[in-house]
Formats: sequence, structure tokens, C-alpha cells
Amino acid sequence: MPLIFVTNDDGVRSRGIIALSQAMASIGDVYVVAPDREQSAVAHALTLHRPLKAEKINKKKTFSVNGTPTDCVIVGVNKILPQKPDLIVSGINNGGNLGDDITYSGTVAAAIEGTLLGIPSIAVSLVKGFQDNGAYKYSTLKRAAEVAVRIAKTTLRKGLPPDTLLNVNIPDSKNIKGIEITRQGKRVYDNSIHEMSDPRGRRHYWIGGGTPLWEAGEDTDFEAIQKGFVSVTPVHLDLTNYSALRYLKNTWKI
Ligand code: MN
Repeated sequence: MPLIFVTNDDGVRSRGIIALSQAMASIGDVYVVAPDREQSAVAHALTLHRPLKAEKINKKKTFSVNGTPTDCVIVGVNKILPQKPDLIVSGINNGGNLGDDITYSGTVAAAIEGTLLGIPSIAVSLVKGFQDNGAYKYSTLKRAAEVAVRIAKTTLRKGLPPDTLLNVNIPDSKNIKGIEITRQGKRVYDNSIHEMSDPRGRRHYWIGGGTPLWEAGEDTDFEAIQKGFVSVTPVHLDLTNYSALRYLKNTWKI
């Protein structure tokens, strides 16, 4: 049985990771090492200035760590799992990780860390119905977990290209139309910063809360979701813009 490491950024007790680890147990030996509390939008943060503690939280192979998703992957792979895992799956995140938003994502960062360690890694997110602020129904999560299993099986069988993780987004739909391989889309930034005053009249700011908008674009993650497909984006860790590299070499005489 393949050794599968499950983690997330919503915290070890989130319903998404419970559904994911239960589903993954049908194809592998599952270890869960995840943050002890929500760590959404911490991106690839690493804890360097305080000690980390891993706590076994049940009889199964489930551990909580008082750190970030990246901390969980490092501690899990090096100190908790019996050997290097065959696969890391991060999720199921409560909300999509589309387009530029992946740069904030703790869910994706766990898969980035796995990729840096040379382990095939997948980030899985469930895109919210845009009017729905409530929690997901169990059936929705189960359906998403089944999609994750299907993609995990293929990844275990075929492997991934070097330095590449899969960013998977699943539509919140009963009728998933299929799976599309996509590219990262672009977010249209709105000013979703709420400005308020505290009881003493001091100004404060609250980021987010707006509805994310996306540039239309063929083959993007957002377009696939909009059409009712699962989006699978291969993401690589080399952030170099190669056409800009050529351009700068040729035109900047410095
Ligand atoms: Mn999250």
C-alpha cells in the first residue's frame, strides 16, 4: 500500500481533512499531520522562532502540530512518518484556490513544500457556491474526496513532472462534468477592504469579504470551474519569467 501523507491549512479538525483522509484510506496507508488550528492564507510561512510540538490526537495516525502547513510537512516527513511518503495530499480546503490566490494559500504551500522535498504533491480545494456562506453538506465533501482519490490514484500510477505540483479545484456541484487540465487564471482586484472605526474612533481595516472576480480566459482554472469541471493546474516552483529573462538580457544594458 502506498504511504499517503494528508495535511491542510484549515486545521486538523476541519471536515475537509476528515473526508479526505477517510477517502485516501481506500488506496493507501494514511498519516495525517495538520495544523492544530486554522492557518488559511499563511502561504509558505515557516516557524523559526519558537518550538513546534506534534501531538497524537487519536488512535489512528493523526497528529496536530502548533504551526503552519509547511511546518506540518517538514515535521511530518522528517519525524513522524515511518518513511518518505509516496504522495502528499493537502485539503480539502474550505474554498477555492484559483488564479493568483494560490500565492496566499496555505493549502497549496503544503504541496509546494512536499514538491521541494521531492514528493509528488496535490492541493485540493472545494470552490464555494458564490452565494453560499454556510458549511458544506457531507455529500458535497464526499464527492470532492472521491475526485481527490481519482487524481491521487493517477498521480501514484504515473508520477508528476519534475518540480511540479497539482492544484486541484472542485466545483460545488452535484453534476461535475469532468476533469480539465488548466492554467492559472488572473484575479481582477477589487477594493474589498472594509474601513471602520473602533469604539474610540480609531480607524481600522478588514481585508477581504468581497466576491472574487476573474479575468475571462481560455483554459483557465476559473473557466473550468465556471463550466462545472474539476480544474487541475500543474504548478511549478521556478518563478522565473523566461521571456522576461530573454528580454532583459537583450535590452537592458546593465
Ligand atoms: Mn483554508
